[in-house]
Amino acid sequence: MNKNDYLDRIRGCLVGGAAGDALGYAVEFDKLRSIRKEYGKQGITEYNLDFLTGSAVVSDDTQMTLFTAEGIIAAKKCGVVKPADKKMYPYVHSAYLNWYETQGRKPGKMPVNDMPASELMDIPEMYKTRAPGLTCLSALGSPKKRDLYNPINDSKGCGTIMRMAPVGILYPEAAPEEIVEMGAEISAITHGHPLGCFPSGIFAEIIRQAIWNDEKKTLAEITGSAMDAARNLYGKSDLWEDLEALIDKAVSLAGNDGSDESNIKKLGEGWVAEEALAIALYCALRYENDFSACLIASVNHDGDSDSTGAVAGNILGALIGYDRIDEKWKKNLQFHKLLLHFADECAAWSVSE
Ligand SMILES: [Mg+2]
Repeated sequence: MNKNDYLDRIRGCLVGGAAGDALGYAVEFDKLRSIRKEYGKQGITEYNLDFLTGSAVVSDDTQMTLFTAEGIIAAKKCGVVKPADKKMYPYVHSAYLNWYETQGRKPGKMPVNDMPASELMDIPEMYKTRAPGLTCLSALGSPKKRDLYNPINDSKGCGTIMRMAPVGILYPEAAPEEIVEMGAEISAITHGHPLGCFPSGIFAEIIRQAIWNDEKKTLAEITGSAMDAARNLYGKSDLWEDLEALIDKAVSLAGNDGSDESNIKKLGEGWVAEEALAIALYCALRYENDFSACLIASVNHDGDSDSTGAVAGNILGALIGYDRIDEKWKKNLQFHKLLLHFADECAAWSVSE
């Protein structure tokens, strides 16, 4: 692997996630039956372009993913470089407050006073509200201190997991447990339920291994290894067994010959973090060599299509890289250039000092 191969995977992760977000956003609140009625038997298989701008618009999932990257990079710029350094979380929280401001809200005091200027806030297009998660908004409007062990609320909505890919991108050499912990803590900035936080950490570690692991592991092996790390940390939680059973089910369903419709139904609808991860993993495992098929499966169901699409696109995009993503998902994608620029930034800031 050379530097360009890693960059290709980072680009694949960010652009792949945005592609799934954009494809799914058009049908986020639709049942499968209405998706088929509108788009035909196969469901939605191509972007539904915005009639004003001609672009495939992304939603809060991609916006917040970019702000997660900007928050971690801000911490690194201010000298907080070690993985799982608790001093990093207030920078990410500050970046989320910047996102909160783009959503027309007035943020309270920043948790850090040396937050570098936000590049994302200079982009007029970022100031669009695209069905932002209500839990994210209310948690960011609260001045309360919060972390994994002092929960801000009892939510495990998928708005906590869909923004987590940069955690895995930006710390290539961290230990798996460190990445799982970072993902869980960043998740806890807005969502306090353990089943919001644990899957977010697992997802971040899957992304790290998909991009930075040179051992040519399969996605099933990567998932197993991320689960091992999370079990070491959270295996004693009352909720761990339920989470592990759901992820095991996703892995096993991916190998059967049932339809995606019936398999995905068995995993839930993706409105909550553990189901979003399970559905995304199912799709990425089942279509490990076919990005388009993965993306299409990941959004055509009764549930939260943009977030399951975003997480699936992040995972498979990281595994196969940008060059292997079909052109049709790059053409007209909102923020395409910005995502490539952020991939470069992430690649530059992922190198340890
Ligand atoms: Mg969304």
